Amino acid sequence: MAQYLAAKAEHPDSLVFFRMGDFYEIFFDDAVKASAAIGITLTKRGQHGGEPIPMAGVPWHQAENYLSKLIRAGFKVAVCEQLEDPAEAKKRGAKSIVNRGVVRVVTPGTLTEEGLLDARSANRLAACAFDGESAAIAWADVSTGAFETRAIAARDVEEELAALSPAELLVVEADTPRVNEAARISGAVVTQRPAVKADAKAAARRIKSAFEVAALDAFGEFSDAELSAMGLLLDYIELTQAGAAPRLMPPRRNAERAFMAIDAATRAGLEIERSTRGAREGSLLACIDRTVTSAGGRMLAERIGRPLTDRTAITARLDAVQFFLDERGKREGVREELRVAGDLARAVTRLALGRGGPRDLAQVRDGLSAGDRAAARCAGTNGDTPGEIARACEALSVAAHPDCASLAQTLARALAPELPLLTRDGGFIAPGYDAVLDESRALRDDSRKVIAALQASYAEETGIAGLKLKHNGVLGYHIDATTKQAEALMAPPLNARFIHRQTNAGSIRFTTTELAELDAKISRAGEASLSRELALFKDFAARAAAQEKDIRAAAEALASLDVAAGLAVWAEEAQATRPEIDDTTALLAEAARHPVAEEGVRRDGQGFTPNDARLDAEGKSGPRLMVVTGPNMAGKSTYLRQIALLAVLAQAGSYVPAKKLRLGIVDRVFARVGASDDLARGRSTFMTEMVETAAILHQAGPRALVVLDEIGRGTATFDGLAIAWAVAEHLHEANKCRAVFATHYHELTRLADKLEAGANAHLRAKEWKGDLVFLHEVAPGAADRSYGIQVAKLAGVPKSAVERARAVLQRLEANGGATRVDIADELPLFAQVMEENKTSPLEAALDAINPDALSPKQALDALYKLKSLKDEN
Ligand code: ADP
Repeated sequence: MAQYLAAKAEHPDSLVFFRMGDFYEIFFDDAVKASAAIGITLTKRGQHGGEPIPMAGVPWHQAENYLSKLIRAGFKVAVCEQLEDPAEAKKRGAKSIVNRGVVRVVTPGTLTEEGLLDARSANRLAACAFDGESAAIAWADVSTGAFETRAIAARDVEEELAALSPAELLVVEADTPRVNEAARISGAVVTQRPAVKADAKAAARRIKSAFEVAALDAFGEFSDAELSAMGLLLDYIELTQAGAAPRLMPPRRNAERAFMAIDAATRAGLEIERSTRGAREGSLLACIDRTVTSAGGRMLAERIGRPLTDRTAITARLDAVQFFLDERGKREGVREELRVAGDLARAVTRLALGRGGPRDLAQVRDGLSAGDRAAARCAGTNGDTPGEIARACEALSVAAHPDCASLAQTLARALAPELPLLTRDGGFIAPGYDAVLDESRALRDDSRKVIAALQASYAEETGIAGLKLKHNGVLGYHIDATTKQAEALMAPPLNARFIHRQTNAGSIRFTTTELAELDAKISRAGEASLSRELALFKDFAARAAAQEKDIRAAAEALASLDVAAGLAVWAEEAQATRPEIDDTTALLAEAARHPVAEEGVRRDGQGFTPNDARLDAEGKSGPRLMVVTGPNMAGKSTYLRQIALLAVLAQAGSYVPAKKLRLGIVDRVFARVGASDDLARGRSTFMTEMVETAAILHQAGPRALVVLDEIGRGTATFDGLAIAWAVAEHLHEANKCRAVFATHYHELTRLADKLEAGANAHLRAKEWKGDLVFLHEVAPGAADRSYGIQVAKLAGVPKSAVERARAVLQRLEANGGATRVDIADELPLFAQVMEENKTSPLEAALDAINPDALSPKQALDALYKLKSLKDEN
């Protein structure tokens, strides 16, 4: 208990998993909480201060399963292991207790186990530090070793966190209020750290020692806030890994404007990484993802989530995609190799942290050799190989990395074809690889054969035909006799040779000197082969750890090939084209489509109508502000989203679903589409919309792209119109950025005509035989009407209500807007009209007749029916 309490005192915020033999036990309050959270049985054990101690336990071999549930439920778990063999403890005295210590704290942001991680998403630990108005975010993915920092303005923290969506966020206590909201939106668990851990000077020392450099200059020039954030991060990783040095790549420093800024609401509205329902399915990412490895999937998510703003870097990515489009054979070859590549980065991390298993070695073997083959498949192009592909091939080519190559070759020979999950039982080294191991295995196997032969010879010797030899963990090999058989064995002369060991209900166990010796030999040989296997494992893991840097580089190279090849596959399927990126402020799209909506429309067996878009902040090659009108359901918000997605895709380095796109770099994209109540924040739709609109009007600069859907709905008509009006003008006159504005206020279409760089467009719809038909086609000019009543009719609103709406509308239009309130006085009430207008059965029957669809016989029948209805009246 003293040992337990000491461990708990060191980790007060964590549940302590206390290893006792085959179980992890959880005590006191921890036990109560864990049992309530994941439904493990709560029991009691012993006493503490006169009270029984609540306890819950999980079997150690199932610990991962329980850990994953606890982590998901928001807990951290300190794993307190037995640090020595019970036998060793005994040497210190019969009553000595096994030494125990916390070997690791499992937290949402520091996971490395395959079973605890989502293969296709990054698992980020982020740290945030503030320095007045500036701030910095450092993040790492402990499972892959990625490590980046970025200095930003304090007000951009929320946006940056939305882009990273970390699993866990570190922050000093005093700054917690500044990140709580951002953490809530991005779903991160917030972990408060003491302020001393964020001291910039101490952090600089920590970074230098972690990366074994004398000066930090090699990594870039860090601000104090960046140093603090990195310090928080490294300290926490060390803490949770129980002092093991963080195995991270050197920090990559991102320039402030390296990425397109996309805030949380825009991400959600455009459904970039997740659909509005919160799933990956239905998102842009899921729609275009054709990668075949988990690491490729993670890299694509990263790229789509953080598009670039540097033209050269974007072009480099596009070149790689184009390479795989032009070189189809190479692409399919590379993808074939990638399919068997495994997850190199995560495997090498586990090996380096001493948490790896035989299957991690196999992933290293497979990843390295698949990488070499993939590089070979890319070779021999006629033209120039694009830089990104050439660099990847260089990182993957075995010839350039002899140590990795020899490791892969060794592993290929050393590992057995079928691999156990854990090292502890052995059986993962292939026969023929190691002479010492083969010898002890042969000894063990030979002795087993001798034992099998013994059974027959004992049966003959004793004359007991059914005599059996068995094995168990306590007695080892023994003779297992029934009570009746045992009588003979215990009587002379056999009792001289057969030694009684144990009597159980129904079976009595014996051994012989010969059998005992063989058993000892087998178990010695078994132990010898196991310890030999473990030694070999350790050696391989150490070799992999020594090549960590090259292996990680290979992992990244594999992922980048996977992303480029996958995007090429998608581009081909979706008939996407290469965007032209330039330094203008234009966005000129021909025949563009919304990739996700198109899939949906196709699934329903229909065609998606492509549309053009022309925008230019400078008003040269298109309007700066486009006002889009059209009935509900005509496709306005799809059109708006599609324009923003073109920019996201293009700058992420992907082809775009359009016949042509010319795009001047976008530095921020704002999208307000499909706003919904943010009840969790206690804000109405209107309030949310205004908060978001405020952010846009403050932040959108000349390179921004803004798409706004129906601003100003949730208030009185005149208020709403006034706000929408002002926002449109502000965007045009003050922000001077590319903007598309969908609205129902037809008044705004006149404004758009008047503005110097404004223009109108509408989504075409037409009435056909009294019904509304959507063409989903964008045409210049304003929509003539809003067709709200027709849409209501389409939606199945009762005919009487539709008719009534028509009447009210007529009256409103006749009166003009000024006296709207008065018409309630003038119009007869609905109930009266209902009474007057009640259709008779005769009229209803007449309405139901469609003359074009009747046969002569049916027509005659109908006529008789009408006549009879008339007579009934
Ligand atoms: P609005 O915003 O005008 O109410 P939406 O953009 O929500 O309309 O689109 C309404 C429906 O029309 C959606 O179900 C969508 O799939 C379909 N749609 C939108 N644009 C197109 C298009 N270009 N081609 C075919 N169908 C479309």
